[in-house]
Amino acid sequence: MSELIYLDNNATTQPLPEVVKAMMPYLQSEYGNPSSVHQFGQRMRHAVETARRQVADLINASPREIVFTSGGTESINLAIRGLCGVAKDKRRIVTSHVEHSATRNLCQALTAEGYDIVEVRVDGGGQLDLDELHSALTDDTALVSILWANNETGVLFDVDAVAAICHERGVPLHIDAVQAVGKVRIDVEKTPITMMSMSAHKLHGPKGVGALFIRRRTRVAPLIVGGGQERNVRGGTENVPAIVGMGEAARRSRDTFDTSIQQMTKLRDRLEHGILEGCPGSVVHGNAAARIPNTTNIGFAGAQAEGILILLSQIGICASSGSACSSGALEPSYVLEAMGVDPSSAAGAIRFGVSHVTSVDDIDRVVQAMPTILARLKPPTVTQHR
Ligand code: PLP
Repeated sequence: MSELIYLDNNATTQPLPEVVKAMMPYLQSEYGNPSSVHQFGQRMRHAVETARRQVADLINASPREIVFTSGGTESINLAIRGLCGVAKDKRRIVTSHVEHSATRNLCQALTAEGYDIVEVRVDGGGQLDLDELHSALTDDTALVSILWANNETGVLFDVDAVAAICHERGVPLHIDAVQAVGKVRIDVEKTPITMMSMSAHKLHGPKGVGALFIRRRTRVAPLIVGGGQERNVRGGTENVPAIVGMGEAARRSRDTFDTSIQQMTKLRDRLEHGILEGCPGSVVHGNAAARIPNTTNIGFAGAQAEGILILLSQIGICASSGSACSSGALEPSYVLEAMGVDPSSAAGAIRFGVSHVTSVDDIDRVVQAMPTILARLKPPTVTQHR
């Protein structure tokens, strides 16, 4: 296979060399337990607390508001179950039609436990219907849980507006910011959200580690009960190497935020314009809304996403159709369906996600390859001769 062109950065990102370097000692000689009282253990405690501060700094939180978890999915589970667990008399959860499967399937499971799940509609641009959200909030509502940035289209919800509505009604708000962290400036002091989920591997950190921001004085029922780690919210010996890696990824993201946004925007726009120009009939889904700078979801009506992905993969190009979790079995995207996208365009929808390590050459090679791939997949147009 030729050299890899990796445009699947919404699925996961390449761990940065400085992240790997920061983790190495904790995989080898620095193996103590952060809960041990001896000096060796306390060095690990110091490393974990440094990482906590680095993650907190990225979103302008206090380190005491950060709980480390095993990733985005666990953070979402802890937030939703944790808030339900302390509001036992409330049975309603308000969410949206376009959530990641972590939220969607958890909510589905909660219906079996007697919860009433209300999914708020999105419009054609992928934006949340704020009036519908407003009317969905009853006295019985335990929480609202919505995405910040959509993992399939990159469309950003207006979290400030959602937070204002929830705050006014006194309803806790959890935000799934897994795709937004590092691509949107986040300041939890300015936006009154209650909890926010994050994942390191979407931020050039390691897999299997994430964090949940829990605003001070918020009560939460633990998901994993154990030895009292993470202030009794998440039991279990901390994954020190991964936590250190997440801290370093957060530090780097904060230090290079502006340049990395500029780079991603430039690359994504070059890719989008190149494809739209070279592939007549292709459309960008969700481009009328504000989006994260690295993502484009392009519909190629008349072709099947699976076929496009296979042909791209054969020439070393990694992309995806919608979320990685569902790409094993390519079902129609419920996100595009909820936006009312034309079914033929949705069936041929490909998600490309660049990162700051993507090169211009990578982009140009994808732009060049796409028309040939489509020509191989689409049935030839029959010209009628009279
Ligand atoms: N939420 C969103 C929006 C995501 O894109 C993902 C991963 O694709 C997750 C949650 C799950 O995160 P993790 O892979 O860390 O469990």
